Amino acid sequence: MYAEVIVDVAHSDVDKIFDYACEEDIKAGMRVAVPFGKGVTTGFVMRVKEETSVPKERLRHILRTAEDFPVLTEESLSLARSIAARYRVPMALSLRLFLPSEMRTGKVGVRYRTFYRLSGDFPPVPPRARQQLALIAFLEENGEQDSALLREKFGSALKALEEKGAVVAERRRVFRDPYTGSSGENAPKKLTPAQAAAVERVHETKKTVSLLHGVTGSGKTEVYLTLIAEVLKEGKTAIFLVPEISLTPQMLFQLRARFGSKAAILHSGLTPGEKFDEWMRLREGDARIAIGARSAIFAPVENVGVIVIDEEHDGSYSSESSPRYNTFDIALLRAKRNGCKMVLGSATPSVETYRRAKEGEFELITLPDRINARPMPEVHIVDMRREVRRGNPSAFSAELREKLQSCLAQHKQAILFLNRRGYSQTVMCRDCGYVAKCENCDVSLTYHSEEDCLKCHYCGARYHMLTACPQCGGKHIGYVGTGTQRVVGELKKLYPSANILRMDMDTTGGKEGHFKILKQFSEHKADILVGTQMVAKGHDFPEVTLVGILDADMSLHFPDYRSGERTFQLVTQVAGRSGRGTEAGEVVLQTYDPDNYILRFAATYDYAGFYAHEIAMREAMSFPPFAKIVRVMVTGEEERETLETLREVYQKLRSLYAAHTGEFLFFNRMHAPIKRIQNKFRYQVLMRLAGGSDLLQSIYDACAETTYKNTLVYVEENPGNLS
Ligand code: ADP
Ligand code: ZN
Repeated sequence: MYAEVIVDVAHSDVDKIFDYACEEDIKAGMRVAVPFGKGVTTGFVMRVKEETSVPKERLRHILRTAEDFPVLTEESLSLARSIAARYRVPMALSLRLFLPSEMRTGKVGVRYRTFYRLSGDFPPVPPRARQQLALIAFLEENGEQDSALLREKFGSALKALEEKGAVVAERRRVFRDPYTGSSGENAPKKLTPAQAAAVERVHETKKTVSLLHGVTGSGKTEVYLTLIAEVLKEGKTAIFLVPEISLTPQMLFQLRARFGSKAAILHSGLTPGEKFDEWMRLREGDARIAIGARSAIFAPVENVGVIVIDEEHDGSYSSESSPRYNTFDIALLRAKRNGCKMVLGSATPSVETYRRAKEGEFELITLPDRINARPMPEVHIVDMRREVRRGNPSAFSAELREKLQSCLAQHKQAILFLNRRGYSQTVMCRDCGYVAKCENCDVSLTYHSEEDCLKCHYCGARYHMLTACPQCGGKHIGYVGTGTQRVVGELKKLYPSANILRMDMDTTGGKEGHFKILKQFSEHKADILVGTQMVAKGHDFPEVTLVGILDADMSLHFPDYRSGERTFQLVTQVAGRSGRGTEAGEVVLQTYDPDNYILRFAATYDYAGFYAHEIAMREAMSFPPFAKIVRVMVTGEEERETLETLREVYQKLRSLYAAHTGEFLFFNRMHAPIKRIQNKFRYQVLMRLAGGSDLLQSIYDACAETTYKNTLVYVEENPGNLS
């Protein structure tokens, strides 16, 4: 027999099939050790066959298997091939997506434990051997026990009893369970008519993908859980994807409580051993629901019955390291292959997804009302320019202070939201709210201090830094945004007796960081939670009746063509944290741009209005989904080498451009807006392809060359950040 092997080395030079001789017990999907060059390396068996064209004298033999079963399923192998071809990455990189990284390093494996129980009959133990008698009594009472525990409790008595034949040992496999003891009750709820209709629609539609567009609190989760329970009953499996899992522990507990050990959770907060075991439980079919962030789409489940992507608009579904895959695309491949349905859920679908639903590609299902017809919280837009004019330099408007005061007086809780997505140096006039934008692109400009100028990240245009506001002549030019620390400082002065919790990147270190803060807050151990994006996710704190959005402008003026969309999503999500209990909630939204249409639509929960406006703007400006932004990045530590590579890549792209000029809306080579990050020089070729152009694959091909030395070349599609 012969095996076609891909070696686990992510380099294009060795990115090909190597044939090895092997025994009968080698199967496709196994990890094996093979002689390679002068050493030994790990490889993946892609296929087993009867013949090979490699001459006998050059043929080498597989040395051994790494595990005694195929770690990769047939489906994984086939998906890995599609991914390698689509994103032009070495097969090894693509295959690695399907394994827990701990497995590759060989640092963790299956855990075994030895258990002791009493044997049927044994000679009497003398009364003076008190420890031995105690041990026997313990086993009589508690049944079989782990050897480690017994040794700790009874010391050498265990060995003595074993020698007498009084106890017998059994070595067995155990699972490290990250959520033991955490599951409570979560009985299925009786679906509301709207939920039941949604489930029906998913079944009845001929379309693979359904978009479940339901306002926050409309009960989307129960729809997902019903669909999952149904496919489990048919003996199938399910994949359930959520954005960043450590931020939504409640969702995990709900699933665990509903499905028990049938659910396996894959996420980066687990210890390597736990992660490995959860993965193994799925691979062996003990667990049949894979839950996790985007990488859970690679879960080793077979016979998939449904794939759910919750909060489908979330940016974390795009991978930012090679291969830069989009989770939706992989999910669709799996759904097609398994012939199953896919459900995307969101209160604020991405413009791109919503358009596909409107155009009939996806089934559009809406849940327009909250469960029990609870009202959506009322949103008050506060004009911060007026606060400046009134001489209030604080981060808090008079209105927000008033409402905070009464919220605290009633012993309710408040969440204050600060936007700090990346750090953008967008400049703004604090007197009138004017923000400098690119004349060509209608995207906010970014200040670059080393050149003392404003730049457009979408076309490279440069503008003078403002000295006075071109709109009102005012001199209060500043950056958009406020710092968390400043806010907390002011807050402490305003409400000295309030308990304040802060949640951002700086305060959530460690595995349990977020979780602890959220738990404290949910137990009402604090009155005010101040935080960044992290507080916007799907938390359910019934005591929260006030949400303050301190600087809506920060996201509104982020230099990204999606800044409007992101702002709408963010405001809706944060507002959705208010008034989830019995008492109605309120939202205070502070901005220097109170007439902005995005904020107006968000304040009235008008998704349709927002969408109509946004899609027209995208079309007018030729932004996605009417075009595709493609950036080829070239980075390296040596500037000369980096430039040489850039030249080489550029030549190829340039001839592509010359041959298909009509399909390009924009084509330019330049420095990346930030010229150096972590000692790496950064250059880019920025392109915008007209809608319907199929040059993307040719761009990937042009970049997948083998001669680049010490430089990294990669392609980004509609990147979330162009810095
Ligand atoms: P969404 O995910 O759409 O924001 P949730 O799934 O969090 O909404 O549901 C909001 C609240 O309504 C939750 O507290 C949930 O337990 C409750 N809920 C959902 N479905 C039902 C139902 N059929 N009957 C009663 N309560 C429900
Ligand atoms: Zn521009």
